[in-house]
Amino acid sequence: MQRYLIKPGQKVNLAKIDTNDSSAFSGDKKSAKGELKKLNKKLEALQELLFAEHKQRVLIVLQAMDTGGKDGVIRHVFEGVNPQGVRVASFKVPTPIELDHDYLWRVHKHTPGRGEIVVFNRSHYEDVLVVRVHELVPETVWSKRYEHINQFERLLADEGTTILKFYLHIDLDEQKERLKARLDDASKHWKFNPDDLKERKLWKNYMQAYEDAISRTSTEYAPWYVVPANRKWYRNLIIASIMVATLEKLNMQYPKITFDPKKIVIE
Ligand code: AMP
Ligand code: MG
Repeated sequence: MQRYLIKPGQKVNLAKIDTNDSSAFSGDKKSAKGELKKLNKKLEALQELLFAEHKQRVLIVLQAMDTGGKDGVIRHVFEGVNPQGVRVASFKVPTPIELDHDYLWRVHKHTPGRGEIVVFNRSHYEDVLVVRVHELVPETVWSKRYEHINQFERLLADEGTTILKFYLHIDLDEQKERLKARLDDASKHWKFNPDDLKERKLWKNYMQAYEDAISRTSTEYAPWYVVPANRKWYRNLIIASIMVATLEKLNMQYPKITFDPKKIVIE
């Protein structure tokens, strides 16, 4: 899975990363589904252990262009996981009150507590992506944010949060297909936002902003993974694998009990 990891200091060139890649898995789409089921089961058990141990925190950041598959990842990777232990925080256009504060204000309060997995569906990275592309604040302001973000994530990591960040990498053609599919299916119309077409026109600017953000904020303590995401099944498999491998390394333990279960009599 390390093939999709962006090493600290590595300069990312998204055009050079194949959105159709599926080379880390030798099977076909059908066997991938079976593989994902196994990973779902493992994740379910790991989440329960995380919850029982009540020590560590896990933050998953999902970023992608529109139709990139953030919702799909949440639906498929966490299938079977107890909803009590996982929380999703979606970051939309900031409210007036949020805009009255610094951009991390609304984010910090959604970070995971002990024993919790939190998935950020969009995140503080929007403040160096959409905000930069649309010049919602001047460059002198957004250009300082990479450093804030690194420091913010270091704070979280130092205090016991494991952070994984995924950029779901699709290309312009794939987005076109997915937007068309949303138009063709009445049950998907609600997902279609005509404004997405304006963002689509700014694709190059977004890629530039993503490349800078990922290059400047992939750290040992909060790594970015650029996940080829044209194939949904592959994207799910890669993210589930990375999550399971990361949680397995946390060396979690069930809490020590203060009683002898053999000596307890239940009348
Ligand atoms: P969606 O995720 O499709 O529901 O759309 C949420 C929208 O909110 C996207 O267009 C984001 O770019 C936008 N958004 C999220 N965070 C910010 C932010 N900090 N500033 C401006 N727009 C944002
Ligand atoms: Mg959208």
